[in-house]
Amino acid sequence: MNSVQLRDKKFDILLPESILLKGIDDVAQQINKDFKDQDPLFICILNGAFMFAAELINRFHSECEIAFVRLKSYEGLERKKTMREIHGLMENIENRHVLIVEDVIDTGYTMEHLLNILKDKHPASVKIATLLFKPTALLRPIKPDYVVQEIPNDFVVGFGLDYEGRGRNLRNIYKIKS
Ligand code: 5GP
Ligand code: MG
Repeated sequence: MNSVQLRDKKFDILLPESILLKGIDDVAQQINKDFKDQDPLFICILNGAFMFAAELINRFHSECEIAFVRLKSYEGLERKKTMREIHGLMENIENRHVLIVEDVIDTGYTMEHLLNILKDKHPASVKIATLLFKPTALLRPIKPDYVVQEIPNDFVVGFGLDYEGRGRNLRNIYKIKS
């Protein structure tokens, strides 16, 4: 499928699934090296990162845990100004090696907020893996440790990412038609 319609918007293909899976293979290889014998805690940011997180932990071959947290900052296409607290983190992260698993870093505000919350809980280390990174949209000093694909500053859907809740099931990444 080269283009899709979701609700009132049209989207064109940006990245095929094959490119994403190859990128995830490469990132997973590095994560396997970096976190071997560290019993890392993967923190998957719901909802958007569920697909990426599944692909990633499938490829991780040492002991690990995964937690799922929620921290929403987008409604439709609009960024919400105030971030919500994180919900659902039951695990004690003190002295744990944490890997945040995110769908996309856009302005970086969400990640900055999350890093501040997590650092207060005294983890041994915190690293960031993101499926997509929009370097030209970045407004905060955030440097993801593992990036599957850098993309231009367009609104995208697919591979877990949504538009008004739709499109998470698409296997490719699509960008909004202007
Ligand atoms: P930031 O705080 O970096 O601007 O935005 C991060 C969050 O906004 C992401 O976790 C994601 O949920 C949402 N977001 C940012 N860009 C996009 C996009 O292009 N498409 C979708 N579906 N969500 C996005
Ligand atoms: Mg997200």
